[in-house]
Amino acid sequence: MKVIKFGGSSMADAKQFKKVANIVLSDPERRVVVVSAPGKRGENDTKVTDLLIDLAKKAWDGGDVKAGIDTVVARFESIAKDLKLGRGIIDTIRDDLNARISHKNGNWLKFLDSMKAAGEDNSAKLMAAYLQSRNHNAKYVNPKDAGLFLTEEFGNAQVLPKSYELLKKLNEMEEIIVFPGFFGYSEEGDVVTFSRGGSDVTGGILAAALDADVYENFTDVDFVYAANPHIVDNPFPIPLFTYEEMRELSYGGFSVLHEEALAPVYSLGIPVNIRNTNNPDAPGTFIVADNKAPKSTFPVVGIAADKGFMTIHVYKYMMNREIGFGRRLLQILEEEGISYEHTPSGIDSISIIIREVNCPEDKLERVVSRIYGTLGVNSVHVVHNQAIVMLVGRGMTKSVGIAARAAEAFNRSGININMINQGSSEVSIMFGVDGNDAKPAVKALYDEFFN
Ligand code: ASP
Repeated sequence: MKVIKFGGSSMADAKQFKKVANIVLSDPERRVVVVSAPGKRGENDTKVTDLLIDLAKKAWDGGDVKAGIDTVVARFESIAKDLKLGRGIIDTIRDDLNARISHKNGNWLKFLDSMKAAGEDNSAKLMAAYLQSRNHNAKYVNPKDAGLFLTEEFGNAQVLPKSYELLKKLNEMEEIIVFPGFFGYSEEGDVVTFSRGGSDVTGGILAAALDADVYENFTDVDFVYAANPHIVDNPFPIPLFTYEEMRELSYGGFSVLHEEALAPVYSLGIPVNIRNTNNPDAPGTFIVADNKAPKSTFPVVGIAADKGFMTIHVYKYMMNREIGFGRRLLQILEEEGISYEHTPSGIDSISIIIREVNCPEDKLERVVSRIYGTLGVNSVHVVHNQAIVMLVGRGMTKSVGIAARAAEAFNRSGININMINQGSSEVSIMFGVDGNDAKPAVKALYDEFFN
């Protein structure tokens, strides 16, 4: 059987809903359908999730929510109307939004998650109703009833292991299951969402729990490309990546797949197939286990860049002789609840790279003063607006001179490298550059390795 997930652009309007239904119904193995909330219908449109976030803010501030509710309902209504689904379902959606707003309580993040989840939840109800209207045996399944339990990290949840066992029950259902992406429930019974784009994660969890033959992830591109098409003209389509390559690329800013979506299927080796709702005949890109991947003929298969990082540079003369320095430094971050990304180091220096969103200014000030206060360092220096650029390819292990070629490409484009880091798997090399150099860096590397 196949678990099949559709992203926001595939759910944006009635025309897209019809395409989705046709894709689902064209293959009886497509038994579990995970859907996003309706996304943008064009450049200047707004995703339903963003409308819901605005509505949540209004409601939280005690403002007038009528217009906000009307806007969200109108998005669903226009879909339902074009699909000839009748008024009933729209009334249900309006009631649902009102109920969520009236359950506002003392925790903003909890309330926000409950509002955000309304996009996927109602999208799934609408899709199930549409499949039923076409005389197919389809059923909306609520994540709580199915057993999708998550950590109570609002807006950034992770799956609880017990979910996998509980979700297996879905295999017994006869109907085509329509499952809302993006959210599950805490053990306390509250709605909790993954981070943005998290419907991909729901799909991965269901594919793993149900031991699917393949996890099909439908979006709006024929392939995953070697670089962002908004940065590089006509980048090479890549028909196959390994999990490790894709993980590095999505971490590095490839937005085609959520960076945590592959974790559930990774150890089971379930292949993931990224495909295009608007061109379902295209075979798409496969993401498979390393031992299932053919030998790569190119050293590099993808180049990604992401901005929004800061670096805390710490210098202490004779740092390398001080036992426990690294642990004490990282313990400060742990105690402040800050996750860090990388820690490249020299003999007397260590740099900690952190996503700006994970370290607001007040926390940063505390961290810096604690480092000075408890570690006796010579200097602490914070640099904002940093980018990371990932050069990714399993073929790099066997190729000599990749880092040299990359450095030469940066040199030619006048880009200063602030940091280089090669993970032990040798599937990627990461470069730290100034935020403004992120795009030129991708272009420079693409020219070097693909043109
Ligand atoms: N609708 C959510 C978002 O916009 C989740 C998703 O589409 O995967 O982030």
